[in-house]
Amino acid sequence: MVSKGNEKMKKQSLKIYLDYAASTPVLREVKRVMEPYFSDTFGNPGSLHSFGQEAIAAIDAARETIAKAIHAEFREVIFTSGATEANNLALRGVVFGTREWESGIRGRESGINLPAQACLRRQAGNKELGGRRKGSITRGFRPKVIVSAIEHESVLDTAYALEKDGVEVAVLPVDKRGIVDLKKLETMLDERTVLVSVMYVNNEIGSVQPISKISEVIRNFRNAKFQTLNAKSIAESTMLKAHQPTIRPFYIGHLDFGFAGEAYPLLHVDAAQAFEYFKCDVGRLGVDLMTLSSQKIYGPKGAGALFVKNQESGIKGQESGIRNKELGVKRDGAIIHNSKFLIPFVTGGGQEFGFRSGTENVPAIVGFGNAAMLAEKGRAKHAKQVTEVRNYFWRELKKIYPQASMNGDNELRIGNKESGIMAPHIINAYFPTEFAGDLLVKMDMAGIAASSGSACSARSFVPSHVLEALGLPSERIRGSIRFSFGVPTTRQEIREAVRRIKKLLGE
Ligand code: PMP
Repeated sequence: MVSKGNEKMKKQSLKIYLDYAASTPVLREVKRVMEPYFSDTFGNPGSLHSFGQEAIAAIDAARETIAKAIHAEFREVIFTSGATEANNLALRGVVFGTREWESGIRGRESGINLPAQACLRRQAGNKELGGRRKGSITRGFRPKVIVSAIEHESVLDTAYALEKDGVEVAVLPVDKRGIVDLKKLETMLDERTVLVSVMYVNNEIGSVQPISKISEVIRNFRNAKFQTLNAKSIAESTMLKAHQPTIRPFYIGHLDFGFAGEAYPLLHVDAAQAFEYFKCDVGRLGVDLMTLSSQKIYGPKGAGALFVKNQESGIKGQESGIRNKELGVKRDGAIIHNSKFLIPFVTGGGQEFGFRSGTENVPAIVGFGNAAMLAEKGRAKHAKQVTEVRNYFWRELKKIYPQASMNGDNELRIGNKESGIMAPHIINAYFPTEFAGDLLVKMDMAGIAASSGSACSARSFVPSHVLEALGLPSERIRGSIRFSFGVPTTRQEIREAVRRIKKLLGE
């Protein structure tokens, strides 16, 4: 029997997790589905024998589930170790892909086609690549990448690493709600822009970007560019026909425009924080690349995916059930996906259609597939439930500490529309009387887990780039904390958390 006193003690010692944007617990059901893949079905998915075949079948089933959830083709889902790697693959892969394009153009000019040239370079021990990397990763052409100011570090730092290698990086600003400026994007796009990377839901403030509007801006730009280039191409091909009978019917080369593939710029969306609450239909959103993460949707860590639009096939679902290695085109020992725009940075055995070599993390991928299926099924219910506890937290917090205010959009709106709304699970709150670093430590000691985008401690303070991008002054950034909520969060936990916060604040 639990006495009243005991119950009170139990309640007081209860740990309260309000950091679901950092990671979510693996659902029991997901764990159960993963279990056999640690010791029973442990084969290497690349092996021909039945152990391997069972493992690859499990991976393909997970791929099928995820492809279906995002309305993609089976082969368009590339498993990675998580969102960071998927973001790296998107940025580095596209930029390196433009280099291949450029070489292809040069190759074609010299009578050698693109894959043949790439093979020759590989056979030459990548000497040429290594040499070129010392200066710029491309020779005549300088690719440009546009990233929003509030991207996750795995996008921003990758972009800055590429910048050191000669890529131009342009930062797309956001307004005070944390929404990107579409007009500004229009003015930033140019013929050298190969990639635009904008996240769907921001991990620090929960702002939701108007992805299909962004893709419309990019599509309009591509169409206008195509028309201009096509006109140029007709003129040029007439001129060059005598020398190059195989010239493409449209312009891809780099004359006075610099590099100008007709399919660029591509749009990459980091949807790691979005999938749990927002439908991520790649067709409706109009994305070319999209990042997903398992650990944000009650799946295990160590799995993520990059959706890579298959540029050559218009046939949906045709490949379901076919083993992934049978799908690509085998060239010079590497399995090459039909997307011409992405070059892998992890090379080796050619797994994941050649985009990500290395033996797959079978249990994690199986868990990810299962978590994605459950997230898809429960999305509407979860969004409603989590919004409810999030709003309850805010009302309760304001009762004990009326000075608190929200960063980003300060209206608790939520819906299935795309823009001007906040994700259900995040509140970034400003405590004017507090220093976030200290309050987080005190809260942790009181059993409440929350976080801050800022790397802050009593001695040093590195302000959050997201809050800075909103134009917030540094005192405000110093006093801001992110609370994030999840499906397991209860009203009782919220009441208890607010009671403890009240005590800490001395209110
Ligand atoms: N993108 C976003 C939007 C995220 O929130 C995170 C995780 N905080 C990542 C990328 C990186 O995810 P991971 O650490 O699992 O690779």
